Amino acid sequence: MQEKGLLLVLSGPSGAGKGTISLALQKENPSLRLSVSATTRQPRKDEVDGLHYHFLKKEVFKNLINNDQLLEWAEVYGNYYGTLRRFVQESLEQGDDVMLEIDIQGALQVRQNFPDAVLIFIAPPSKSELRSRLISRDTDSKEEIEKRLGCAISEMELARQYDFIVINDDISKALEKVRAVITVEKLRPRYH
Ligand code: 5GP
Repeated sequence: MQEKGLLLVLSGPSGAGKGTISLALQKENPSLRLSVSATTRQPRKDEVDGLHYHFLKKEVFKNLINNDQLLEWAEVYGNYYGTLRRFVQESLEQGDDVMLEIDIQGALQVRQNFPDAVLIFIAPPSKSELRSRLISRDTDSKEEIEKRLGCAISEMELARQYDFIVINDDISKALEKVRAVITVEKLRPRYH
């Protein structure tokens, strides 16, 4: 019996800091594999196909859904996003840990298929702090920011279904908490 890897799901409103936390975890943990999602969204400046996302046309994305190649998928802010099933399954079976950075709808689908998955919600300290983070990172239009803020409020309601909620008012403390969760969860045996 080989021990399976840990499936870690990070969610939280855009601007809450999950990207920063995920980058730090990958740096200090070379065996943690980040799943690169598929999306129909347009690439932002500096985003690289295959590295940040697999940027796909809608028809191609729909084919992935129809062929059951997505472990979960969701429509977020008018675009489709999904996790490639094969990468995740193969990595876990090899004993590697996998991290998904996905929205709540997707995370709850993962929970159904992988009851062992560990769901962590990264929350911003307040709405005003979230707004200023979104403005200062300068990746989205004003309209887009308002849309994302609106979603953030309803997302917070659903966050209770996560295993852990980490409030990111200080990035190093938030990171420390996520590390602690991983350490404890790694002690739980997962077999297949
Ligand atoms: P962004 O457009 O800012 O890169 O991502 C928008 C939202 O889509 C974020 O909440 C992000 O976590 C989520 N997302 C990214 N990839 C996936 C995915 O594969 N599945 C789901 N369900 N959500 C995703």
